Amino acid sequence: MDCVFCKIMKGEIPSEKLYENDEMFIIRDIEPKAAKHYLMIPKRHYKSISEMTDEDGVAFARSLKKISDLTDKLGLQNGYRLVINQGDDAGQTVPHMHVHILAGQPLDFPDLRK
Ligand code: AMP
Ligand code: ZN
Repeated sequence: MDCVFCKIMKGEIPSEKLYENDEMFIIRDIEPKAAKHYLMIPKRHYKSISEMTDEDGVAFARSLKKISDLTDKLGLQNGYRLVINQGDDAGQTVPHMHVHILAGQPLDFPDLRK
């Protein structure tokens, strides 16, 4: 499958992997938008929340909790923001479900209507 995250998972594209288990892996984003910018990527390929199965949802909840276990390893002690871009208006560029983990600085929360 021609999916950048599936290729990263198989080691066909290099990445800086910070954590991995049998359900997901966490890499450093190649184009960071904050001082610390990671991606938590479920290993099963599905595009979006609407394609999540019940099992995906359970694994996803476990993966979110795992992020909080990795606070020290990822340097998230001062807080962090999780972002999931879904579809065109959100600017989703990779059609494989993933969570952005943004941290390492005070995170602006702009009024997007402007
Ligand atoms: P999104 O726009 O929400 O779909 O996010 C996709 C993210 O994947 C962007 O922040 C990209 O910088 C990131 N990205 C794309 N290719 C790679 C790669 N090879 N290694 C790490 N991050 C990547
Ligand atoms: Zn994929």
